[in-house]
Amino acid sequence: IAAQSWERREATSFFHTFTDLPSLKTDGPVIIDHGEGPYIIDTVGRRYFEGNSGLWNMTLGFSERRLSDAALKQYQEFPGYHTFFGRNSKPTVELAERMLKLAPAPMSRVFFTNSGSEANESIVKLLWMMWAAEGRPERRKLLTRKNAYHGATVMASALTGKDYVKAFGLPGPEIVTLDCPHAWRFALPGEGDDEFAARLAANLETRILQEGPETIAGMFAEPVMGAGGVIVPPATYFAKIQPVLQRYGIPLIADEVICGFGRTGSLWGTLAVGQQPDIIVASKSMSAGYFPMGAVMLSADIDKRATAASEVWEEFPHGFTTGGHPVGCAISLEAIRIITEEGVFENVKSVSETFQSGLRALADHPMIGEARGMGLMGALETVADKKTKQSFSGDLRIGERISKEARDRGFIIRPLGSSVVLAPPFISTHGQIEELLAVLKEVLDVVYGTVKG
Ligand code: PLP
Repeated sequence: IAAQSWERREATSFFHTFTDLPSLKTDGPVIIDHGEGPYIIDTVGRRYFEGNSGLWNMTLGFSERRLSDAALKQYQEFPGYHTFFGRNSKPTVELAERMLKLAPAPMSRVFFTNSGSEANESIVKLLWMMWAAEGRPERRKLLTRKNAYHGATVMASALTGKDYVKAFGLPGPEIVTLDCPHAWRFALPGEGDDEFAARLAANLETRILQEGPETIAGMFAEPVMGAGGVIVPPATYFAKIQPVLQRYGIPLIADEVICGFGRTGSLWGTLAVGQQPDIIVASKSMSAGYFPMGAVMLSADIDKRATAASEVWEEFPHGFTTGGHPVGCAISLEAIRIITEEGVFENVKSVSETFQSGLRALADHPMIGEARGMGLMGALETVADKKTKQSFSGDLRIGERISKEARDRGFIIRPLGSSVVLAPPFISTHGQIEELLAVLKEVLDVVYGTVKG
């Protein structure tokens, strides 16, 4: 077996998930041997700048010894436990305190999961318990938005506003899908950002009234949508929709899985977009991807109500064996310390300027309809016609081709339909960001050369 290539061994043993199979057939997998800072190096020695930080998560790169040291120390001290039956471990308590202290809005308590999906899934059950215990068991519907991504477990998939969930018979009757706040794509001709936001808030209210406010449990929203294509909402979007939610007593859940801990150039996406959540989900950057971690933070109001509900039920019958794992918590404490106290967050703010201005400059390219983003997250959306914003035909696989060309030049970026999305590590230098932008320009020219008339 060892004589076979890693690619071959992978192809014959591994069942691929979230992998575009036609591209895999033509481009093959990349099997990574090791990492150095923001670079990954594959088994044949090719080196790539990870322009997506893995899946937006390896924010401190791939060789941060302080994180592996924190893990080793905790493994040697107390290698694993759970948080059920009133048991807990020191790093878990410390991380809970730290998260509450750093939260963008007053939050009163927190619990941990192994992933973003599990965190969202947990919130659905928490809300259902809360409403049921308050004598409102019919408040089960969940509001979400077209193009949202909230995870891959069943309810988290249902909350994901992408077409592929339909193949699973989702989202199902308990999900209410609202407008995507993407002004460039969905604003009416002549409609400004503020008017667009006002229209979406009016649509939200209409929808709540149609469904019946007494049937709605909560609304999930990423501050900036990530896997939906890096959609930054209009500046007044949350200011306009929040009063509507408040009017009907609908809790707002900020899914900060991508945005949390600096990705948007603010410590929390919530702060960047004026979101005032009742519940906050964090994951990814929280442990810089060095351990599977998720967190759910509850406002004082939700904490009080969910605690009262747990007392009625005698417990919140929910949790994960390894949620709040002491090693994951020790790593997260160190990752958060490095991001907030060792200049990394400052670096994000600084290199974001280079990144965003460079991206915006690419909007002049004949194939780019919109260059958008915030902080160290961005997207380039291609169009066949800049005036009509018509996308290229899916058969052209434009996003895949741009990504392939970039990969051939040593840069990993992520295709998303006819767009590509980018999320460089927080430790990227100005020079590395400039190289990434220069390669993007070059590959856009190459791909454009093959599709223009
Ligand atoms: N929520 C958001 C906004 C995400 O981007 C993701 C994953 O990318 C998730 C939830 C799901 O997290 P996980 O893949 O850790 O389950």
